[in-house]
Amino acid sequence: MTRTAETAVPPSLSYELYPPAKPSAEDALLRAIDELGATQPDYVSVTYSGTPSRRRASIELIEHLVGATRLRPLAHLTCVGETRASLRQLVRQFVGLGVRGVLAMRGDLPAGPEVSRGELPFARYLVELIREVEESHSATLAGGRIAVGVAAYPNPHPESPSFQHDVEVLVSKERSGADFAISQVYFDPADYVRLVTAARGAGVTIPIIPGVIPMSSVRRLERLAVMTGVRPDARLLHRLETASSDAERRRIGVAAAADLARAAFDAGAPGLHLYTFNDAPASVEVVEALDLPAIRTLSTAVSA
Ligand code: FAD
Repeated sequence: MTRTAETAVPPSLSYELYPPAKPSAEDALLRAIDELGATQPDYVSVTYSGTPSRRRASIELIEHLVGATRLRPLAHLTCVGETRASLRQLVRQFVGLGVRGVLAMRGDLPAGPEVSRGELPFARYLVELIREVEESHSATLAGGRIAVGVAAYPNPHPESPSFQHDVEVLVSKERSGADFAISQVYFDPADYVRLVTAARGAGVTIPIIPGVIPMSSVRRLERLAVMTGVRPDARLLHRLETASSDAERRRIGVAAAADLARAAFDAGAPGLHLYTFNDAPASVEVVEALDLPAIRTLSTAVSA
C-alpha cells in the first residue's frame, strides 16, 4: 500500500450494521458485532429509517453497542418526513445515550405526493440542526463536539442533474459543519479518485472515506442498483453469475472489495468504511486481505 500525506496517520476502519428486522436475526447480529469488534474498528455505523419500528431497532442497537461493547457507534439519521422539533429530540436522545458521532442524511424521498417530505429539504440543514443541538448541550458534551458525517457520491445521486452538482452539494455540507464524508458504494476505483479530485478542486477539505461493499450475491447486487441507482459492475456481475458455488461467489466478492479498497488507499483514502449487510466474515476477510497498518491489536496500540 502506498502511503501518501493523507494516510500519514493510520487509516480509519468502520463497518455499517443494520438493526435486525426480525427477532430471528438478532443472534446473527450479535455474532457479527463480536467478530467485527475483534478487528478493533474506529467505529461502527448504525443505519436508520424513520418508521417507528425501524427507528426503535436502531436505537436499541445503539444502546447495545454503548452498553455492552467497547465499540463506538456512528448513528445514521435522516431528516426526510421529520419536523425540526422531532429531529432535535432525536439528536438529544442520541447524545443522552452516549452517541458522539452522527451521519446526517436526508434519506430517500417517500413515494406519492401526499406524503410529507418534512421540514428540512436537504441533508445540509440537518448538519446545521445537529450543530445547534450541540451548542445547546455544551455542558453535557463538556465542550466536546459531535462528529458529523455526510454522504458523498462517486456516481451521481439518482435525483442529481450532474456529478458536479453533487460535488457542490458536498461543499455546502462541509460549510454547514460536516466533519467527514462517507461515499456511496461504487465499483470502479476511478470513481472514488474522480470524486476526491473534483471535491478538492471545489474546496472540500474534509476526509472522504470510501464506502466499499463485499458483494457476493447477484440478487443483492441487483437490489443495490435499484436502491442506490449505482449500476452494477458488468464484469463483477458476470463473474458472480457464472461462479459455481456460494464459496466461490464469496471469494470473488471479497477479492473485488479488497481491490477497491487497495486502490482507494493508493489514492490517499483516509480510511475504509465497509457496508457489511451484517455479514461479518466477508468484511473481516477484506480487512485481513488488506494488511492494514498494525494498529488493530491492543499490544501495538499500547506500545504506539
Ligand atoms: P442530500 O445531500 O440532501 O441530497 C439529496 C438530493 O438533493 C441530491 O440529489 C442532491 O444533489 C440534491 N440537493 C442537495 N442540496 C441541494 C440544493 N441546495 N439544491 C438543489 N438540490 C440539492 N438512507 C437511509 O434512509 N438510512 C440510512 O441509514 C442511510 N445510510 C447511508 C449511508 C451512506 C454512507 C450513504 C452514502 C447513503 C445512505 N443512505 C441512507 C441513503 C441516503 O439517505 C440517500 O442517498 C438519499 O437519497 C440522499 O441523502 P443525502 O444525505 O445525500 O441528501
